[in-house]
Amino acid sequence: CGIVGVTGVGDALPYLLQGLQKLEYRGYDSAGVYLANPSGQDALIKEKGRVSKLAEKAIAETKGFQATAGIAHTRWATHGNVTVENAHPQRSEDNRFFLVHNGVIENYKELTETYLQGVHLVSETDTEVAVQLVDKFSKDGLTTAEAFRKMISLLDGNSAYGFLLVDQKDPETLYVAKKKSPLLVGISDHGNAVTSDAAAMIDLTKEFIELRDGDMALVRPDSVTIYDASGKQVERKPFILEIDP
Ligand code: GLU
Repeated sequence: CGIVGVTGVGDALPYLLQGLQKLEYRGYDSAGVYLANPSGQDALIKEKGRVSKLAEKAIAETKGFQATAGIAHTRWATHGNVTVENAHPQRSEDNRFFLVHNGVIENYKELTETYLQGVHLVSETDTEVAVQLVDKFSKDGLTTAEAFRKMISLLDGNSAYGFLLVDQKDPETLYVAKKKSPLLVGISDHGNAVTSDAAAMIDLTKEFIELRDGDMALVRPDSVTIYDASGKQVERKPFILEIDP
């Protein structure tokens, strides 16, 4: 339902929690956050109900560790009940990849049967299939960007997605893709962001690039690289959001 992510910021958690709070008006049933830094520290925290409850837990569980990157999500369940396990971020079996998703993957059952025999799925969501596919293709030898692109290429044409993926081995690179679900990249000189709603990231920046359907982007602390649906690198013009914080 709602997505926020940041990279290259001094302290990721406050930006993500404030972002989730600004997304609350859209409605959701559960929420979660994944936090990491390049020294290898990370944490996954998920809760049903209010963002304030998630915030308390996240602050308690990350005492003494500062994350410079992270992704967060408010869920509106379409596949699977409202449970902590079904909340996003969804993760791969070996806790390397973490993914938040807005939308619906129409052919997730077929994809599971074709590619994920023997993988232990822990949630009932369509989203988990996407992150387990990235992990599988990565284990087959693809780079994370290639594995992410391959996963997207396998999604049924009627699927809708805003995706934000983190690889624990290089957590300051955010892998982004969208189709039929809004996603924007926020740009600043002290870190970059990704969000489904620009208003959720105005504490970091007012400068945004709106991604188009089929786009894939790599968002790093001081660079944003965007590819269109054909895989060609493209420039998209940023705009300034006119809004009072
Ligand atoms: N289809 C996903 C799920 O049920 C994402 C729902 C959403 O957009 O929040 O978990």
